[in-house]
Amino acid sequence: MKIYNTLSRRKEEFKPQDPDEVKIYSCGPTVYSFAHIGNMRTYIFMDSLRRVLKREGFHLKHVMNVTDVGHLTSDADEGEDKMEKAARKAQKSPWEIADFYAKAFFRDLERLNIDRPEIIAKATEHIDGMIEYVEQLCEKGYGYETSDGIYFDISKFPEYGKLSRAKLDEQLAGGSDRVAVNDEKRNPADFALWKKAPKEHIMQWPSPWGMGYPGWHIECSEMSREYLGDLLDIHTGGVDHIPIHHENEIAQSEALIGKKTVNYWMHGEFLLVDGGKMSKSLGNTYTVDTLIERGFSPLAFRYFCLNGHYRNKLNFTWEALEAAKTALGRLYDLLLTHKEAPYVEITDVVPGEGRYSDMNVMDAWQKEFEYAISDDLNIPLAMSVVWKALRYGTPNRKIYDFVVSLDDVLGLDLEKGTLMAAEKKQKEQEQASEVNADIPEEILKLSEERMAAKKEKRYGDADAIRSRIAELGYKVTDTKNGPVITKE
Ligand code: AMP
Ligand code: ZN
Repeated sequence: MKIYNTLSRRKEEFKPQDPDEVKIYSCGPTVYSFAHIGNMRTYIFMDSLRRVLKREGFHLKHVMNVTDVGHLTSDADEGEDKMEKAARKAQKSPWEIADFYAKAFFRDLERLNIDRPEIIAKATEHIDGMIEYVEQLCEKGYGYETSDGIYFDISKFPEYGKLSRAKLDEQLAGGSDRVAVNDEKRNPADFALWKKAPKEHIMQWPSPWGMGYPGWHIECSEMSREYLGDLLDIHTGGVDHIPIHHENEIAQSEALIGKKTVNYWMHGEFLLVDGGKMSKSLGNTYTVDTLIERGFSPLAFRYFCLNGHYRNKLNFTWEALEAAKTALGRLYDLLLTHKEAPYVEITDVVPGEGRYSDMNVMDAWQKEFEYAISDDLNIPLAMSVVWKALRYGTPNRKIYDFVVSLDDVLGLDLEKGTLMAAEKKQKEQEQASEVNADIPEEILKLSEERMAAKKEKRYGDADAIRSRIAELGYKVTDTKNGPVITKE
């Protein structure tokens, strides 16, 4: 299996330290508001990774953090604490706020068929570990104290910037304008490991430096090490984490442990809305609830996401979601057609000169699907195999079985969706027969014969029967729910 490593900027063969326990860490949500659909795209990517690794036969030990301590409003260390702000607005304690939004987050994961990582680690339950971590960094000379906190001295870590390939000289010279000037910092890009809390700060803990709270990068370094040890196989997050959060995580972890701590860095690209950034001011930070309110199932959004590769930007529009909803409905309908058909052996072989030529078509679909998912999670290519199979030849139960067997990777509830399609079909047929309730038996029988003739492609016979029905004073109109008969 190949995965793209952000650190090397290349696709690499994936070799875990131990296939029986692939160690994965994913940066999780900050729980001071509802997660938006952009966040959810990143977790759908994380879920696809889990599902593909499992299909490849690996066992996973996967940790995701929940940032429930609140961190500051900007990526840098300035600004107001987001959790406190939300708490003040709702007149609840930050703990209540965090609990409420964490529950909402996990409900969204469930609705999107995103499997929960094996271990969920809450930052507030790891404060002692973080304090120890900061102490050790200070002992090793990487941390220094100022009047408002403990900072990491990036000049002591020459490799700072290696993930984003930012130049250390520029960072040291203050080339970035994202950090408001803090006179006591040794370098502009030095970041807080621990912050001293002003009295009014509600979430604070005792530490060797007085009451305070952790900087927002330290939790990931501490908790990933606590559960997974010194070397992780895979670390995931969104691309926005590359230049600051993950750079800082690398600095902290490698400074403390003294060597590489992550083998493969994977980052999911952003979801755009109407071609631009999601923002509160534009009113387009949609949530899973917004989708449901507007009549979409969360799985229609999952389907939409699966059709874009995780390393490409994906543009969300309501029209695109509508198209995804229609396509998923069609997919379930086609599955039903195959499910209701008999099993027929497919003996055709793939023609031509390609990778799968001369192979039995079903074997080729299987191979192509496996190839796609193992090539840096090419789920869009895998989806095209699904459609190729569904549209192949005449309805065949074997095709239903094949496509349903892929759902461990896709997570689209294919069996349940087929049952829903069956219910819908039955309802439509009942409605159609209600419409024809007052039509004489003889006419209904003729109509059935006409349908049978059409099915067997005896169109001449079908037309003759229609004329016979007309002679008897009735008119047949074909609708998607079947023929509707009216008296002329
Ligand atoms: P946060 O709760 O803000 O830490 O974000 C949770 C996850 O969502 C992080 O991995 C972010 O990188 C990711 N994320 C934030 N905005 C977007 C977006 N528009 N599209 C995709 N992922 C995003
Ligand atoms: Zn993190």
